[in-house]
Order: sequence, then C-alpha cells, then structure tokens
Amino acid sequence: MPNYSDKPTIIFDMDGTLLDLAYDDFIWNHLFPIRYAETHHCTLEQSHRTLSEFHQEHNHTLNWYSSRFWSAKVKVDVLAMQIEHKHKVAKRNGCLAILQYLKENDYPIWLATNADVASLTFKLKETGIAEYFDVIVSSETLGHAKEFNGFWQKLQELHPFDVNNCYFIDDTEKVLNSAKQFGIQNLYSIQQPSSAKEARKTCNYPMLDVLTDLISILKNSEELKKYA
Ligand SMILES: [Mg+2]
Repeated sequence: MPNYSDKPTIIFDMDGTLLDLAYDDFIWNHLFPIRYAETHHCTLEQSHRTLSEFHQEHNHTLNWYSSRFWSAKVKVDVLAMQIEHKHKVAKRNGCLAILQYLKENDYPIWLATNADVASLTFKLKETGIAEYFDVIVSSETLGHAKEFNGFWQKLQELHPFDVNNCYFIDDTEKVLNSAKQFGIQNLYSIQQPSSAKEARKTCNYPMLDVLTDLISILKNSEELKKYA
C-alpha cells in the first residue's frame, strides 16, 4: 500500500495556471506565424491558414506540445524562438504565495505539464519555481498528453497518489475532463489564464482568480474533515 500523506496532493498545471499564458500566446499566435512566413516566403495570411490547419490536426496531442516536432515539421527552431523571448515568461498572480503556503504547511506539491521537457526546463530556470515541487512531470516523458487517460495511469504508476485526496488545477477544460474521468475529486480551473485576454465568464469547473484563492478552499475542507 503506498504511503499516502494525510495532506492532499496538490497538482498544478504550468502554462496558464502557475504561469501567465500571455507568453505562450505571444510565442505561438503572434511570433510563430511571422517566423513561419519568413522561413517559407509566404504571406502572413497564408502562414496563419497553414498553421491553423496544423492546429486542427495536432491540437491536444503530444506532437502539439513538442518543440522538436514543430522544428522538424515547419523548419522553424521553436525552442530557440521561445528562449529568445524568455524574459517575457511571467508568473500568475499569487503563484509564489500559494507555493510558499503549501510548502510551509507540508502539502505535497506536484507539477504536471504538457510542456515538453526542453520548454519545461527553460521555464523552470527562468521562474525559479522548481524548488517547490516534490514531483515534476512532462507529458512528453510519460508518453501521453494530459488530455488522455494514459497520462494519469502512467503518473499513478510512477508516483502513486490518492485520487480521493488530491487537488488538480489546470486552465484547460479538456484536461480537467480527463482528470475527472480518472477519478480525481477536486478539480479547479483558472479564471484568467492569460493577462492579455479577458477573464472567462463561465466554465464547467470552479475557477480560481488569484492562485491564493485555493488557501481558503483547503482550509474549509480541513475544517469539514474534523466533523466528518
Ligand atoms: Mg495550461
């Protein structure tokens, strides 16, 4: 029997959850089409059209999240493109405060991201948040994107955790759906994943505005446990 901690395991997504998705929006929606057009000597409009077709084909797959895949497919060095603008990588409101709180209160803190290992590595270096996590996994290493059950099965196999005593926070609904199907009980989305876009009005999951909103949720749950 795995030795589960009494405290719930808190699993965070990275981009759009702990980190501001405005960076990824800039890289993938703004800069990437420009670089693609330059490389392939086409108009920006043609570039957008082609990349949108790729989007349809590969969205939510491991390929979609792979710098190596894109570099090979479109001949644009997307990792270099990301690193070139690394100064734009930013933490979301309450990111350090929530990680500090959880660490001080002995919660197991995990990071589960679809970012490939290369992107994950440079973002961790840029933000300095790696030290907070007990477990850090990239879907590239696990061989399945988080949108699929295989990811959760593999994660459970490598790092056993109690789905009934776990919180998972992710800005992508499809990922939350897959976590729900796997049995994770406490699921939260993010109200404003990108500071450059409007906050969401609705979501099928409760949404955190600042990440420290999670503190009162955890405290309430601890209180309820006392009377259970
Ligand atoms: Mg995300």
